[in-house]
Amino acid sequence: MKSFLPGSTIGILGGGQLGRMLAIAAKPMGYKILTLDPAENSPCGQVADWQIVAKFSDLTAALQFAKKCDVATIEFENVDAKAVELIEKQGILVRPSSAVLHVTQNRLRQKEFLRGIGIGTANFRKIGKGSKIESSGGAKKADFKYPAILKTSSLGYDGKGQWICKNEGEVKKIVLKNPGMEFILEEKVNFAREISIVGARGADGEFVTYPVGENVHKNGILDTTVVPAGIDLKVATEAEKIIKKIALKFDYVGVLCIEMFLLNDGKLLVNEIAPRTHNSGHYSIDACEFSQFEQQVRAVCGLKLEEPDLQSTCCMVNILGDGSGNVLKGSEKLLQEKNVFLHLYGKTDARKARKMGHFTVLAKTPKAAFEKANKIRKYLKWAKK
Ligand code: AMP
Repeated sequence: MKSFLPGSTIGILGGGQLGRMLAIAAKPMGYKILTLDPAENSPCGQVADWQIVAKFSDLTAALQFAKKCDVATIEFENVDAKAVELIEKQGILVRPSSAVLHVTQNRLRQKEFLRGIGIGTANFRKIGKGSKIESSGGAKKADFKYPAILKTSSLGYDGKGQWICKNEGEVKKIVLKNPGMEFILEEKVNFAREISIVGARGADGEFVTYPVGENVHKNGILDTTVVPAGIDLKVATEAEKIIKKIALKFDYVGVLCIEMFLLNDGKLLVNEIAPRTHNSGHYSIDACEFSQFEQQVRAVCGLKLEEPDLQSTCCMVNILGDGSGNVLKGSEKLLQEKNVFLHLYGKTDARKARKMGHFTVLAKTPKAAFEKANKIRKYLKWAKK
């Protein structure tokens, strides 16, 4: 197994907060960081050794990136597939590979892949040419139930590019309004809880999983993650089985996260595969012996993985912009609280619904962590000055 030892340069495609936290984990281990992102002074660029400022589709920049790094990874799954293939052709290992990204970048391909390996998903249908609603995902037209969620097949994230439709007529209207766009139509799942599991697979096939987190989304964006999730051991074991199966089928190397719906009967349906570190794994920075970001460094560089070792039950809260100003007030009050850890991503424009940071509360029980987190989040307010 080829290892990239400290002193090597890790290239990160994408310069957002996931890249930033990866760089922060890699630097003390002696790695150098190169990032590529179209935005100057990106969250990752602020802490990296170098940033190439270029579009993801800029193939000259991709070649420059490949020349300057020893091994590469992604922090944003919608990087340009052609650029990733070009980097691989230069002999640079990209972990996860372009073959994995080809599947995960497209919701329809993702769901077809999951069904193909016997993993449950929401019933879904493909929207074909001329806005025809075609059969797919095992659901015959007559069995498909509304309300349903129409999603763009690619480039959607954080609930963007999604519409709830009550009937076929509504679906057709939206599809006709967006010619050239590819869609997937999913039944709206009446879930009991949303959970996610982060895991890592090493280059030698070693696999570690993090404890399952319980997520609450607001407007399609993650709001809180509580760990461990309030689920039976049987469900947690099933979640582990699912992530391992996916990683094995992909011959995956790196960190990945699987978001799932838990139904009232205890069944799990996979909503999404994220081929990278994940927002719902941020708790691991403060609550685990080894964070998802340290694990990503190890997996990408071909080192031995470490058991995450949860040290405390916890609750992570996302800090989103709300458009009312770019100055975050109340952080001094939040920081006076014990066992509360604040992370800000260095973004200057606190646009509405933009992920600006997060904080994690450690407490004796998941309930206590959740309650304290919801109390102290009120300290934080965006202001103009
Ligand atoms: P996504 O962008 O697909 O990760 O969706 C964001 C969030 O929207 C999910 O975490 C759920 O809260 C909700 N959602 C997405 N798809 C479905 C579905 N088929 N049924 C019910 N809720 C969904």
